[in-house]
Amino acid sequence: MMESALTARDRVGVQDFVLLENYTSEAAFIENLRKRFKENLIYTYIGSVLVSVNPYKDLEIYTKNHMERYRGVNFYEVSPHIYAVADNSYRSMRTEGKDQCILISGESGAGKTEASKKILQYYAITCPASEQVQTVKDRLLQSNPVLEAFGNAKTLRNDNSSRFGKYMDIQFDFKYPSLTLSSSSSSSSSPHPPWPLTRRQGAPVGGHIINYLLEKSRVVHQNHGERNFHIFYQLIEGGEEDLLRRLGLERSPLQYQYLVKGNCPKVSSINDRSDWKVVRKALTVIGFNEDEVEELLNIIASVLHLGNVQYGGEEGSACITSDTQIKYLARLLGVNGSVLTEALTHKKIIAKGEELMSPLNLEQASSARDALSKAVYGRTFTWLVNKINASLAYTDDSHKHYSVIGLLDIYGFEVFQHNSFEQFCINYCNEKLQQLFIELTLKSEQEEYEAEGITWEPVQYFNNKIICDLVEEKFKGIISILDEECLRPGDASDFTFLEKLEDTVGGHPHFVTHKLADGKTRKVMGREEFRLLHYAGEVNYNVNGFLDKNNDLLFRNLKEVMVMSENNILTQCFDREELSDKKRPDTAATQFKASLAKLMEILMSKEPSYVRCIKPNDSKQAGRFDEVLIRHQVKYLGLMENLRVRRAGFAYRRRYEVFLQRYKSLCPDTWPNWQGKLADGVSTLVKHLGYKPEEYKLGRSKIFIRFPKTLFATEDALET
Ligand code: ATP
Ligand code: MG
Repeated sequence: MMESALTARDRVGVQDFVLLENYTSEAAFIENLRKRFKENLIYTYIGSVLVSVNPYKDLEIYTKNHMERYRGVNFYEVSPHIYAVADNSYRSMRTEGKDQCILISGESGAGKTEASKKILQYYAITCPASEQVQTVKDRLLQSNPVLEAFGNAKTLRNDNSSRFGKYMDIQFDFKYPSLTLSSSSSSSSSPHPPWPLTRRQGAPVGGHIINYLLEKSRVVHQNHGERNFHIFYQLIEGGEEDLLRRLGLERSPLQYQYLVKGNCPKVSSINDRSDWKVVRKALTVIGFNEDEVEELLNIIASVLHLGNVQYGGEEGSACITSDTQIKYLARLLGVNGSVLTEALTHKKIIAKGEELMSPLNLEQASSARDALSKAVYGRTFTWLVNKINASLAYTDDSHKHYSVIGLLDIYGFEVFQHNSFEQFCINYCNEKLQQLFIELTLKSEQEEYEAEGITWEPVQYFNNKIICDLVEEKFKGIISILDEECLRPGDASDFTFLEKLEDTVGGHPHFVTHKLADGKTRKVMGREEFRLLHYAGEVNYNVNGFLDKNNDLLFRNLKEVMVMSENNILTQCFDREELSDKKRPDTAATQFKASLAKLMEILMSKEPSYVRCIKPNDSKQAGRFDEVLIRHQVKYLGLMENLRVRRAGFAYRRRYEVFLQRYKSLCPDTWPNWQGKLADGVSTLVKHLGYKPEEYKLGRSKIFIRFPKTLFATEDALET
């Protein structure tokens, strides 16, 4: 009999919320989380969904031994763990031949990125490897420090906060032969489904990353207590003397306007100097040659120099007060200094077929400079992702077929005191993910019952499609209206956008502004705000800056300078065609909407697993369980609803062979081995155990148990 790897300590509370007697009680739910958290049991299931509470300390649960413990073992045999989710997806991919995805959600600081790294490490260590595969594994692992250096920053919520969304495909050199797919549901007597693989197959052989909506505004501004992206500090603190000299940089972040806004150059939990070494090495492993590294660092240094470009002169026409930065910029970017100077102080206007240079005032010039910094950094980040993708690309033509496990580490629902365009996009993204959850979870639940021939009563749930439509519908959704205002010449402003919203979607049940239907005003809301009633809660958005952020424009003459740059990375980032193209590029929101639609398509084609991360307190402290904060997250993550859905059907389902294997010792007819059909064996066993007919159903290949206490009692019988 398989030995149970669970100890008494593992059993603190219930390790699966479906086992909770009082499963509709939020208090009971949180109490169970708290009990386990106190014992450092940070993982708990809701069925196959993993709930994870950030311990804010290193637990000894990620060793190679732990990985071995979870390898090839059934979900319920061992205590809940991120490795169990990773292993389960991997085995499903191999035995059922379906691409998988693991969706990790939770608010900032909840542990999403750490979870995704743990999963990647699990595959890198436990999957088969050859020498060539080792290179891919190394590159997959090393892509993390590079992307984190350029895309993560210290925020008030998290010292290593991802400021972009990330979806990563891990490709495995294995394709399940589709014709034999049915073997996974046959009633074979082997305790595990067959793995029709050679030992070498199933190795990670490639990867692909898609990035979403980098928070570019951080390049030029940081709130108090926050920093710019890590790479700037790493370069300044860790860069070798002659490198800094060549880049014209001083070894102090305080010298740079773009690094002092948050008044927080040093962070106790971060060692920029040693991180620099890690990143520098990672770039080499990924396959950057020296020239590429040099060009990349030239760009990073240039952004810092740009930030130090100061304007003076008369109010109406700004001029640059010192040419020190321009000299560095000209050299590092390979551009003409005087053309750059003109582009940073003038705007090109085409009037009556003639080109005119119109001077910018101080404010316009500063914002043109910042727009250039944001564009350069943002596009370089995308270039970096492309470059990593090229290095991870699966190139072996003889094995065109591969299976995929996708990892999604994307921003969770955000509600701040002040919510802007960024939160609007992020929360829209979460609405879409909730749609996916509804589609995939309810659908797959239903499909499983159907496939097994079990009757099922559907559960009621709130379908948030109405909110997705409100945001994204063609012509009359919020994004369409925003785009319309962005394209409208004349007096369009953030305020006219809000007015138009009121006219168009004013009566929508999930949209609110200060205006009441009877012409009076709602006092608790500002005149610059609209409120969306999201599935996870209400959020007020301030429309200030919506048009600019959505337009994301860069003056044409600044683009021209960049197109002519001799920096090879920039020439790839700023395409000459952009200048000739008369059509305006899509707005930021429209691009985001399109990329989300594509993401949904990718995820829909896969079998999902979920990791829901929870942040236990706001002070990044170990051992503190802030109940109010956690209750919010349980709500936002939809965990109670999740549990309800899971319980409405059958709490547990197990394949006949697994069920029999585990409990056969409890019945003389099934011990030591049942000789007949598996279904008959299970039937004999549960009758012997006294299961009542309403407590279970027998499907084609699985037993379905309605109440957790039934299984609980059986588990207890096993122990006595
Ligand atoms: P963001 O949305 O801001 O990117 P996140 O959900 O990705 O946040 P992480 O960066 O993964 O959050 O985690 C924040 C910090 O919490 C980590 O830097 C680490 O210190 C700690 N942490 C997270 N998960 C674990 C864990 N499993 N064990 C120990 N510490 C953890
Ligand atoms: Mg993160």
